[in-house]
Amino acid sequence: MSDKPEKFIDENGIRLDGRRVDEIRPMTVEMGVLTRADGSCYLEWGNNKVLAAVYGPRELHPRRLQRPGEALVRYRYNMAAFSVEDRIRPGPSRRSTEISKVSGEAFEPVVMKQFYPSAVIDVFAEVLQADAGTRTAAINAATLALVDAGIPMKGLVAACAVGKVDGQLVLDLNKPEDNYGDADLPIAMTEDGDITLLQMDGNLTVEEVNKGIEMVREGCEQIFAIQKAALLERFGTAEEEEVLEDAELQAELMSEEEEVSEAAEEEDAVEESEDLEAAETEDPEDVEVEEAEAMFEEDVTEFEVNEEEAEEEAAEVNEEDIASEPEGEESTEEEGEKYEQ
Ligand code: UDP
Repeated sequence: MSDKPEKFIDENGIRLDGRRVDEIRPMTVEMGVLTRADGSCYLEWGNNKVLAAVYGPRELHPRRLQRPGEALVRYRYNMAAFSVEDRIRPGPSRRSTEISKVSGEAFEPVVMKQFYPSAVIDVFAEVLQADAGTRTAAINAATLALVDAGIPMKGLVAACAVGKVDGQLVLDLNKPEDNYGDADLPIAMTEDGDITLLQMDGNLTVEEVNKGIEMVREGCEQIFAIQKAALLERFGTAEEEEVLEDAELQAELMSEEEEVSEAAEEEDAVEESEDLEAAETEDPEDVEVEEAEAMFEEDVTEFEVNEEEAEEEAAEVNEEDIASEPEGEESTEEEGEKYEQ
């Protein structure tokens, strides 16, 4: 029996894993995880877990493979035997050879190979856990590993797939969407938007391909932002990190403020409608009586306050009188003494 879901997208436009059609899976990256490699990056993207390591530039053997005017970029994509439920046979396969070739070429326009003639830059991408989109995940990790190794690059490369399920285009396919969907279109691009990898599996119209590319562009913008944040964390100065933290804090505060103002607006709307309801249901005579009662109560409290003030004033006057009395007595005593003398 097939595990194919009946529906991939519900009536609210939400996919099986809770994402909207144009939403990518959550991505986290950590650079410099391998101390022996010149550069490395560990990346998690949804349930994909990928490790990329870069060695080089270093001398290339055998010498006949050397390129006189530039370095050779060698890319090896590999799925660990334990990365999926059915054990993957170790060693190269047709699939991994193909993915290695096209993924290495995805870095052609950005890596400045002319600086290292005859050398080799080795990029290893190991898929530890696979859940569809592993070649794109590996490219996203490899670009950071290359930067980590200090390889001069004109910019970053980001990759993401788009596909089609239930007759709709969806960004960043998950496993069921990849396995049972109508199409899978992995794309890699530079920061300038130049496409450096484009493969396609399944059927899409020209319009769908064009719309899919635009969706991938949006996804790659988000991936570039994640990559840049990781670079800043690894290489940024404390000041730059502070700026990033401030920007993040600012964004958080803004979203909180938005939530608060939305909640306040909702509250106001509820209060207004309650007032309106109350005004509609209240008898005008009752309102008049209530207002008169409130005014009466105000008058009474005012009167009580005045009375208290008057009492306090009177008490103060008495005290002053009492305080002045002994002086008077003393003077009379003195005067009496004078008379006796
Ligand atoms: N897959 C698998 N065994 C294989 C190859 C692939 O189970 O030998 C799974 C794996 O989860 C992979 C998914 O199928 O991520 C989609 O594979 P595809 O060839 O489309 O490459 P990807 O989308 O991972 O780049």
